[in-house]
Amino acid sequence: MTTTESQSIQAIHRNAVGAPDDMERCPIASTYGPPRVQFVRGEGSYLFDRFDTKYVDFLSGLAVTSLGHSNPEVAAAISAQALRLQHVSNLFATEHNGVVASALDRAIGDGSPAGGQTFFSNSGAEANEAAIKLARKWGGRGRHTVLCAFRSFHGRTLATLHATGQPEKWEAFQPLPEGFKHAAWNDVADFERQLDDTVAAIFVEPVQGEGGVNPATKEFFQGIRALCDERGLLMMVDEVQTGLGRTGRWFGFQHFDVKPDVVTMAKALGNGMPIGACWSSAEASASWSGGDHATTYGGQPLATSAARAVLEIMERIDAPALSAKAGAKLTDAVMELPQVSGVRGLGMLLAVELVGYNAPAVAARCLEKGLVLNGVTPTALRMAPALTITDDQIDEGIAILVDVLEEMAPNGSTE
Ligand code: PLP
Repeated sequence: MTTTESQSIQAIHRNAVGAPDDMERCPIASTYGPPRVQFVRGEGSYLFDRFDTKYVDFLSGLAVTSLGHSNPEVAAAISAQALRLQHVSNLFATEHNGVVASALDRAIGDGSPAGGQTFFSNSGAEANEAAIKLARKWGGRGRHTVLCAFRSFHGRTLATLHATGQPEKWEAFQPLPEGFKHAAWNDVADFERQLDDTVAAIFVEPVQGEGGVNPATKEFFQGIRALCDERGLLMMVDEVQTGLGRTGRWFGFQHFDVKPDVVTMAKALGNGMPIGACWSSAEASASWSGGDHATTYGGQPLATSAARAVLEIMERIDAPALSAKAGAKLTDAVMELPQVSGVRGLGMLLAVELVGYNAPAVAARCLEKGLVLNGVTPTALRMAPALTITDDQIDEGIAILVDVLEEMAPNGSTE
């Protein structure tokens, strides 16, 4: 990159984050690409930038704002809680934790109590850290390995980075904590080959989100469950992206008729308020003892007030059913486009394969035209709209995508 290019990227970055004009460099760390837009307001499936330009949101903050932006009931719950009690630490009980944990337990049991317990965290990676620690505690000394899938994504902390089956992301941060192995996605035989006496748990996503929106097969999930039963391993499922209605069921694993021992989640749980959770069955939970794990903020009142409102709304509107319906409409709409060769995913977590286009370039042009989505692979767009998106809003977003695909020649150049 030339100095001039680098300066102009810095300028775009600075401008987008609203840094002072006299600042030479952008004050935000460059771990993300330069943002092109600063959003200041959201309403349902619409976002507005600082010039009040409207965008249709097909991404929901990466599968987070499942109930739409600035959901009034969630906002009211957070503001009421903020005026009542903001924080006391986990040395004391607070109002919402038990209610939220019970609602999650019911959702995991698909309507009836599953009988497990929940540890609250602040993010998906931290929920997964809790799961990894639980697996080690449960396995005992020498039985500490967590077997994960290649192309998986479990987070960016050091342990979850090593759980993530994308070796290209490991390189700069070696040495990573030991105790992780990987096997081929959707390949039970390869998982079985990788087992040794050190393995305590198998950890998989129902749909690999960041890895390209690759759904698990029912045979794979059932095979992993059988393997875990045969060998006495914990089956742990990462539902950080797929959980809470996103796939058309409360949890992705429910598509496959299996019952996992550990389920992690985050994203949609707070509709944008940072909160994660690691649920474990009664048997697995028995491995936790006082002092094993803790967090200052996990499960704090503002976050759990949001989660409580989210779960109440989701139950009331039957969020999984909405997701299945809207996902089918979205799939049909994109499948009609001649530039699309296929759609994969479940419910409202979809990858749309384009023929001959560069997906990140298409996503960038869509943003300029008022549609938010992202390129999840070089050839596929990810769509993960709010579960509450309306049919008209889906049509509005698809119309922008059609415009962009017609305007751009295959391979990303503009005609
Ligand atoms: N696990 C999965 C499946 C995810 O998709 C993500 C984030 O995209 C994470 C874990 C990490 O979550 P967080 O970014 O909240 O740490």
